[in-house]
Amino acid sequence: MSPCDSCHSGCCRAFAIPVTGADIIRIERGLKLGFWDFVCRWADPDGTIARNNAPHFFFEDEPNTPFVICTTHAPSAFHEGSTKCRFLMECTPDEENPIGASRCGIYNHRPSSCHAFPMKLDDSGELTILYQVPKHGREDKNPLYDLCPREWEIEDIDPIEAPQQLSMAHYEINFFNQVAQIWNRNPREWEVFPEFLHIVYNNRVMKQESPKPADDSGTIPFSVA
Ligand code: SF4
Ligand code: SF4
Repeated sequence: MSPCDSCHSGCCRAFAIPVTGADIIRIERGLKLGFWDFVCRWADPDGTIARNNAPHFFFEDEPNTPFVICTTHAPSAFHEGSTKCRFLMECTPDEENPIGASRCGIYNHRPSSCHAFPMKLDDSGELTILYQVPKHGREDKNPLYDLCPREWEIEDIDPIEAPQQLSMAHYEINFFNQVAQIWNRNPREWEVFPEFLHIVYNNRVMKQESPKPADDSGTIPFSVA
């Protein structure tokens, strides 16, 4: 059993969850949702959401505010005044579980940052590091935002899947950082961001140009010795 199995999902309540363009398009397709159903921009003037990993985007309407692209939060059904990732499914609290069990409603399509937590690649990009998760996800120490009920152990992590997923997440966040650089050269309004994103990602696959034949005899322009 992983620590998540007995957790009330403090991470899905405490944090804004950054998404990449690839996450957005995968969720749109997999769940038949539109961009505005689940994506928002969170102002991040002190960098605590981006954490030197997710890119900052700037927009025409607030040109001096860095934003991180995240999943939207929704009010908790059981804990007044608090919010949680809009995809978190909450169960009714009971005596055994006063906060209430909960689970990700899009587990197979969840963003790469959710897949990765609490792991990262080491500096060589080849080994998986389990980092120490703090006890509380927010400074106010509300138990709703407590994190992992026990420390993660190496045995909790699949040594084949985890590095593969982290490598993919690393590739996508690098690509999204380049997308941000292009966008930030000429920031436009937030409303046109989804259109921009779809144009960029729809052009990620290109066909190799056909090599020109050396002559017009119709033979294939290479030979097998
Ligand atoms: S997408 Fe799922 S795992 Fe990620 S924060 Fe939301 S509920 Fe939690
Ligand atoms: S806080 Fe830790 S144990 Fe709980 S759902 Fe998040 S990663 Fe899993």
